Amino acid sequence: MRRRDLLRNGIRISVGMAMGINNLPSAKSQKGIVPLSGKFNAVLPLPIQVVIDDVGWWSGKDGSRQGEPYRSGIKRNHTPEDYNAIAELGKTLNIRPQAAMVLCEWDKNNILRKIPTSTWMGRNWDNSRRVGPWMEQAADIIKRNKAHIELTIHGVGHEYWVGGKPSRAEWAEVNGRMRPRDQVEKHLDAFEEILEQHQLGPFPASFVPTAFNHGFGRTPGRKISMAKILSQRGVKYINTPFHQMYNAEAVQYQYFGFDADVITINRGKDLLEWDDTGKIPAGNLNGPTCGMHWANLIHPDPSRNSEIVNKWVELLKPYDRREDTMLAPDSIFFQNQLMHYECLKMSINGDRIVFDFTELDLLPGNKVKNFFVLKIKGKENLKFTSDTVDVESERVKTSGYGQLHILRIYRKREIKKATLVVS
Ligand SMILES: [Zn+2]
Repeated sequence: MRRRDLLRNGIRISVGMAMGINNLPSAKSQKGIVPLSGKFNAVLPLPIQVVIDDVGWWSGKDGSRQGEPYRSGIKRNHTPEDYNAIAELGKTLNIRPQAAMVLCEWDKNNILRKIPTSTWMGRNWDNSRRVGPWMEQAADIIKRNKAHIELTIHGVGHEYWVGGKPSRAEWAEVNGRMRPRDQVEKHLDAFEEILEQHQLGPFPASFVPTAFNHGFGRTPGRKISMAKILSQRGVKYINTPFHQMYNAEAVQYQYFGFDADVITINRGKDLLEWDDTGKIPAGNLNGPTCGMHWANLIHPDPSRNSEIVNKWVELLKPYDRREDTMLAPDSIFFQNQLMHYECLKMSINGDRIVFDFTELDLLPGNKVKNFFVLKIKGKENLKFTSDTVDVESERVKTSGYGQLHILRIYRKREIKKATLVVS
């Protein structure tokens, strides 16, 4: 059943564009808000996840005019400092940004000679000029900051070369049709091998397609979907903009769909162009993903990276303070909260908030965890009790209007309906 049908039949209460929020979430998606007799509001906040593409290049050069990859587009070489920028963003906001990695320039053993479609040099691949002590320094930063950097698969060479000629992109054609399966598998093998060269494993559980060329489900002439191939390697989650995705109409929910049990989440539109560098980010997020490219997070002068990172912190922080959104601490939390956001039905009955988990439990692959976060805004000290769920108060924030309670609510799996009493 499609999301809109469920909404039509559902009992969720929507209050439209209340509270002066901008273009996120849309009126349609403000279904998690339950106003209650002036005493309090209960909101299931939309989680926000930061995804940073094109991490991993050592040269920043946009080589697209010379038959080379687009790379990060920054007009300098990358340095270990550029990895610190990601860790700094993560630490300051207490989140775990996804670094969508391109790994060919990390290949210290020239293994990519075996896969001519993976680089612009084909069988003559020689990466020796990119090999140096900076690799170990950057790997060390990544390892020390595991809590604040999640490595994600992006690509090996980012594009796809046949007879030395590039085409976009590595995993699929512009129309979303997947590359031949044997090539996809070889590129994924190479990705894993290069990670192992630097002990940067385990193999990631998430994927961002290069150039966002991607198909939801099987694509013409292919017997298997990209998601299925990835799932066989332990990938659980794909992030890509739906407006560029083949077969996006088959997506089952507003912000995500399941493809071979892999959750595929809409990235929406980024705030900056892929190669904007040293630019102060501005604007409003238009969905649950804050997508950006590595060049957007750093400065032409790497010693000034913090200046740009701090601007992203300023832009993102308010999303954690708002009652209708929150910054996801990591991508697993993100997936789980987003599933609750879409599928958990909330309704009111006097001072009770009633949760119905039925639809949530119909999601494929037993993906849902037994908790979610709820924000409750009230004018006085509120107390929360329940016979059916466990309530853990995470934080209480006081501001002009009163208090914002951030609750983590645990349920037992067999319970389909639960009640939270607010007093
Ligand atoms: Zn990319």
